[in-house]
Amino acid sequence: MKFAAPSAELVEKLVIANRILFNQGVVDGFGHVSVRHDKSPEHFLLSCNRAPGLVKRADILTYGMDGELAVESNQRSYLERYIHSEIYRSRPDVMSVVHSHSVSVIPFGVTGQRLRPIFHMSGFLGSGSALFEISDAAGNTDLLIRNTGLGKALAESLGKHNCVLMRGHGSTVVGPSLESAVYRAIYAEENAKLQLSANALGPIRFLNEEEAELAMITVEGQVIRPWELWSKSIGQIE
Ligand code: MN
Repeated sequence: MKFAAPSAELVEKLVIANRILFNQGVVDGFGHVSVRHDKSPEHFLLSCNRAPGLVKRADILTYGMDGELAVESNQRSYLERYIHSEIYRSRPDVMSVVHSHSVSVIPFGVTGQRLRPIFHMSGFLGSGSALFEISDAAGNTDLLIRNTGLGKALAESLGKHNCVLMRGHGSTVVGPSLESAVYRAIYAEENAKLQLSANALGPIRFLNEEEAELAMITVEGQVIRPWELWSKSIGQIE
């Protein structure tokens, strides 16, 4: 290995992140979360092909910016690992990526509507989510990001946003830390539910861009608080 092993703390934190996302209903048998390697920024950590609620320390593998394993392993990889590799490649500020199919977000992608910050907890949505249309990149597909070309096209759609909706599939959120990416994945789903219900009452006054930025700084500066709470309810990890 030409690079250092990740810290045991980071590996454990990624296991906890997987379990939190499952517990909070963001991922089910599918979906995944990764974190940039703490000792080698050209690598990232991601579980082998395992349901997030079952991920254990031994499942955490190291990948390179090409989306391929950087360590020897007999474990299968997630088909959509290129979501992670291409976002880390194009966004040096991103330290963690969560990809999910959380259901309340789906109606927005298929109607071309953006998620916009409906309350202070989702200031990370800024001026609104980005939208990825896979058929623009590859025509008719199974909707999965299964190679570097599709990963690159997705990363281009994400641009400088923190959240990209994937039409007919799900969404991907990014953050400057593992805790913040998990937080954002949970609150993207919450925001979608609230946006759907408020829309039935009338036109929504969303946070404007400056309000969103200010709220994000305040709330995400305290992201350890909900992280501690969510960590308590995941049970024992292996
Ligand atoms: Mn997917």
